[in-house]
Amino acid sequence: MVQPNSNDRRIYKEEILPWLPKKIIDCHVHIGLEDHSDPISPERIAESWTLEIKSDMSWEDLQATYRELLPEQKVSILVFGHPRREVDQIQSNRYVMDKALQNKSAAHALVVTKPEWDASVIESAMFCGFAGIKPYPDFAPQNLECSIYDFLPKSHLAMLNRLGGVLMLHLPRRGRIADPENIRELTEIYNDYPNIKMVVAHIGRAYCLPTAEEGLPPFADCTRMYFDTAANLNTDVFQFALETLGPDRVLFGTDLPITLMRGVREHVGDKYINFTDGDYSWNKNRKSAEEESEYTYYLYEELLAIIRAVKSAGMGHEEMEKIVYRNCARILGES
Ligand SMILES: [Zn+2]
Repeated sequence: MVQPNSNDRRIYKEEILPWLPKKIIDCHVHIGLEDHSDPISPERIAESWTLEIKSDMSWEDLQATYRELLPEQKVSILVFGHPRREVDQIQSNRYVMDKALQNKSAAHALVVTKPEWDASVIESAMFCGFAGIKPYPDFAPQNLECSIYDFLPKSHLAMLNRLGGVLMLHLPRRGRIADPENIRELTEIYNDYPNIKMVVAHIGRAYCLPTAEEGLPPFADCTRMYFDTAANLNTDVFQFALETLGPDRVLFGTDLPITLMRGVREHVGDKYINFTDGDYSWNKNRKSAEEESEYTYYLYEELLAIIRAVKSAGMGHEEMEKIVYRNCARILGES
């Protein structure tokens, strides 16, 4: 259970709360139970540090987390399961849908899709209440170094376009959103499937400024393409995104439960370094005990970075409300 300490509470109260409206939407959050997943092997953890973070977070745990970390907010969510190979996606999708249906006023859900599934699965899922899909590069045979179409076939795109659903897209390839092939494919999808509500996750995985500077300008005029802030902690990237895309196209997402990790992230060139006090096999690069004692949640670090970016872009509370609420409410048809 999440238990914020006095420093966390001070940060929320003094630095975050003054910038948050009462109602917010978290557009990128994962729930799931441990028994939906097979164990994750050390080889797989070596592929991505995120795989070692506990994935087990029930609907109830998530609500308790919001109550502790955002106690003054009414949080609605766009939620999905964990798109990992080890997870039984049928079971996990069913769990997500059950919870979303039981809490209709507070939740929209996306179905995690596998590329080998027939497009009719998307039709049935949306008929049952899903708002759209969450495909993922991990399901492509060649994993991250692949084309978007390897894990999101055109048949799925055509179906989603016909139904006007939401696409939460995690980009493949080492070059992230700056990769020319990603830019080409994203532009193609944007033009060919105009009814899809397209959200590019993690600001296109531009966790560092050089990636954002190369990767975001090609989409400056793609006004129907949105970018979420999930698990991105970089003030400069957010400021660049706000200035390049405008405040109407950036959506707040937490990527919980990953951002329950405590620590800071440093950005050097196009590399980011995670610092945390967490007990992970990859956590060898530590700061002093004194610095670690000041750590707060990555979730708070993300919000602080957004707030700093809004300020340095010369924007204010109105733009902040768009980012944390209005933009996503519009996409989900809530306003
Ligand atoms: Zn995520």
